[in-house]
Amino acid sequence: MNRIFFRFFVLVMLSITAATFVIYFAFARLFGDPLDDIARRQAAAQIFLLEQYVDQAPADEWLTRLNNVREVSEVRYDLLPLAQVRARLGQDHPELERGAIVIDARERAFYRRVDLRGERYIGSDDEVLVARNLPVDIGQALKMEALRYVIVAIALLVPIALWSRAHWHSLQALSRMADEFGGGKLSARARMRPSATVYPLAERIDHMADRIEALLEAQRSLLHSVSHELRTPIARLEFGLELLDARAQDPDLHRRIAAMEGDLRELNSLVNELLDMSKLDSARTLQPARVDLTALLEECCATLPPSPHAVACELDGSLGEIDADPRLLARAVGNLLRNAQKYAAGRVLLSARRGVDGIARGIAGGIEIAVDDDGPGIPEDERERIFDPFYRLDRSRDRATGGFGMGLSIARKAVALHGGSLRAETSSLGGARFVIKLPPA
Ligand code: ADP
Repeated sequence: MNRIFFRFFVLVMLSITAATFVIYFAFARLFGDPLDDIARRQAAAQIFLLEQYVDQAPADEWLTRLNNVREVSEVRYDLLPLAQVRARLGQDHPELERGAIVIDARERAFYRRVDLRGERYIGSDDEVLVARNLPVDIGQALKMEALRYVIVAIALLVPIALWSRAHWHSLQALSRMADEFGGGKLSARARMRPSATVYPLAERIDHMADRIEALLEAQRSLLHSVSHELRTPIARLEFGLELLDARAQDPDLHRRIAAMEGDLRELNSLVNELLDMSKLDSARTLQPARVDLTALLEECCATLPPSPHAVACELDGSLGEIDADPRLLARAVGNLLRNAQKYAAGRVLLSARRGVDGIARGIAGGIEIAVDDDGPGIPEDERERIFDPFYRLDRSRDRATGGFGMGLSIARKAVALHGGSLRAETSSLGGARFVIKLPPA
């Protein structure tokens, strides 16, 4: 049962129940108790017999006729003192005082004064005729009434179910599209038929997705073009500075040129990182191949720049081969290892295993690669933001370590292109732990 239909179902049932009570109490107030009415209809034969046969008898034969009826009928007729009946019925009953029939549906009985003037026998005005055991079945009447309401409910719910089914499917299609779009598939669109109930909304969402895709594409190509265009003047500047350095006589000038060359190198590496990042926004960048994971991770450790903190490796023997882009995966792991070396106090650990966290178990399972260090770690509320481009935790601390705050962002994009995830946690070594999870091949 879809959620919309379930809500309608509950609402319709509540409304019908409320309507039933309102109808009952309104009718009871305006026209008398509907149950009495039903009972009166069911006891119509006995009432008819009393009024048309017993009451039509001459005064001195009234009791005889009543006794005749008593003999042949299954209904029990008794004569009770008026005071006793008044006490039993409790409330004030003007019908009884008027000499009319008072129905008691629950007791399956009716009451009526014998007469008002004592004409039928001595003291007959002080007595009430009580008919009990009447063929009254309120239960059946109530069942019929309930069936009526059930039929009305079904008549309402069937079209609602049909409508809500189509509506629900459209909403689900819309939410699938939103998930895909949010997950990075910018070409995802709802593309609904104009007859769909949510068509106007879907059309606006598609339009919005078109605009977002165009804007992101424009931003990406701007970033790419600017970075690309900057390369040539940087190369020219480098060349110019080298020439200048060769001709300079003044040692002070040499120092200044060396500082400028340092700045240029920094600018160059920023431009290269920007270019790399803009490329990672497109899935076309991925060039998958069969990769021996153990060899790739060992290679990552071997190619690290010299550092006082050596990397310890704990690689599961069953890592085997995976489908991945070796260059991108090595880049992601390398960035994490370089960061760990930068911030560690003494220990850096690279570990990898297969089939963890329920991703999958056994040979075809997912892969977990973790980089741990014993550095200052990353505060819990910063663990997502550090993956934003140009974001650095503590600028004064990070200035000494260099870097533009792009390394983690590039690593996450590279892992995401493989369908995996990269998260920051607390390491058992006391510092930061970065975990790459790759889905099963
Ligand atoms: P950067 O190139 O500046 O290191 P990153 O994107 O790699 O940029 O990292 C972003 C920020 O996250 C860093 O500036 C640093 O503050 C923090 N960080 C990254 N790795 C670690 C780590 N292993 N321990 C502590 N802080 C870290």
